[in-house]
Amino acid sequence: MATLGNRKSTSEVIAKYGFDFRKKFGQNFLIDNSILDKIVEAADITREDCVLEIGPGIGTMTQRLAEEAGEVIAVEIDRNLIPILDETLADYDNVTILNEDILKVDIHEIVAQHGGKPLKVVANLPYYITTPIIMALFESRVPLSSVTIMVQKEVADRMRVGPGTKEYGALSLAVQYYAKPEIITRVPASCFMPKPNVDSTVIRLTRYEEPPVKTRDEARLFAVIRASFNQRRKTLANGLSNAGNLGASRQQVEDVLEQMGLSRTVRGETLTLEQFAELSDRLCET
Ligand code: SAM
Repeated sequence: MATLGNRKSTSEVIAKYGFDFRKKFGQNFLIDNSILDKIVEAADITREDCVLEIGPGIGTMTQRLAEEAGEVIAVEIDRNLIPILDETLADYDNVTILNEDILKVDIHEIVAQHGGKPLKVVANLPYYITTPIIMALFESRVPLSSVTIMVQKEVADRMRVGPGTKEYGALSLAVQYYAKPEIITRVPASCFMPKPNVDSTVIRLTRYEEPPVKTRDEARLFAVIRASFNQRRKTLANGLSNAGNLGASRQQVEDVLEQMGLSRTVRGETLTLEQFAELSDRLCET
């Protein structure tokens, strides 16, 4: 039975191992059982599922995931946590702990080793690398059915907003191309040890079978999106024509914008995903 998930048991484990929290790894451990219940419920895990947990910490959420899932693969970068995880997860025979950096792990291989079924990702993510992790998960095209994650509140907002808002950017477009974002719950800083300086949000990203827009070349669409938001204060035409990897001249970009009925001074933050897909396809033709 899960033993962690509150201040007392977490403090006991930390004290027993003399564990020092490392800020550089974004270590804020969950100490609130009701939030853990909500995350596990939102992730909708069954015995058929293989779950990838990023950053298990001392194993608080891992214990609960192991109770619901067929298998759990937990990837933890901090080797000081491995002996702790060996103890807190000793009762579960369906958990594999990998002492690795999630950004360097071959997730395709994990999927292949576990029968090729799409993974469910569940994580209380280290805030310092939230965006690279999410982008890497989706862009790797690894089979995933859902991603249920705790992120900084502002990052969750960026994932679900549309054009015309100041939070809208490359992350919003990447997430909305691949998945349907839904806020599960807000989480106050007091639910963590140590207490972070920001509030958090649990968000579920359910992978679309087919992206909501069609594009001829997905890699190019993402290159266009990145270039459009690289220089936020500049116009879209500037960003795109300055991006070496797109090979589009300023004139070509302006011609395409005109064909699309857009001003040559338009900014990336006003375009919808559909418009980015059209822009990317038209730039391919030039
Ligand atoms: N899941 C635990 C919980 O909810 O209490 C811990 C969450 S804590 C916010 C983030 C965890 O991710 C830490 O255990 C940290 O060591 C780990 N971590 C940080 N960077 C990582 C990386 N690049 N790869 C794998 N784990 C990482």
